[in-house]
Amino acid sequence: MLPDWLAALGVPAGLEAGAARVQDLLPDVAGLPSLEAVAQHIAACQRCGLHKTARNPVPGEGHPQAELLCVGEAPGANEDLQGRPFVGEAGQLLTKILAAIQLGREDVFIHNVLKHRPPGNRDPLPDEVLACQPYLLRQIELVRPRVILALGRFAAQTLLQTGTAIGALRGRIHRFHGVPLIVTYHPAALLRNEAWKRPTWEDVKLARRVLDAARAAEPQRSFE
Ligand code: URA
Repeated sequence: MLPDWLAALGVPAGLEAGAARVQDLLPDVAGLPSLEAVAQHIAACQRCGLHKTARNPVPGEGHPQAELLCVGEAPGANEDLQGRPFVGEAGQLLTKILAAIQLGREDVFIHNVLKHRPPGNRDPLPDEVLACQPYLLRQIELVRPRVILALGRFAAQTLLQTGTAIGALRGRIHRFHGVPLIVTYHPAALLRNEAWKRPTWEDVKLARRVLDAARAAEPQRSFE
């Protein structure tokens, strides 16, 4: 059930996700007081094998109280080299997409489901996702965004704990720990397929509408 101010947008409600608690997953991380502290923890993390092959951890970056938070899949080669998310070609496109809804990169928080690069950009493995989950969750908890934008199938399905195809997840207002979540295509997919540009524009316009409605309706941010 969407709260009245979200239902008033007339967009179908989607999935409700967010049973997991950092405290139950990894108590050490639940107590971390800041994004910097989470980043330090990630830098020392050996919970899966990816730290052995990655050059740098990529914890994520951006405004510590961002109203919009973007979640991608995993660092690629450029991100691995620089230790920063979305700095390659897909990242440049993401910057343009955000600018189209009047948001600069410095306004948002950007991170990935995985904090270390999978070798050769292979798909993340289930145990790697599980290992990284407390960091992802604690970061979102600390930022308390008004809207989450899930970039691509992998981020969307991981956050929403579903196997539903991305096409069916788009165009709905989901909620993650009570925070409205909008699904769109991954910018790397747009680079491969121009046909996804228009639907992506529709998705980010929806994210912007939700953000504006949240500002108007809810002076306080929440994370349930
Ligand atoms: N693709 C992602 O999912 N994340 C990045 O940081 C870069 C490319």
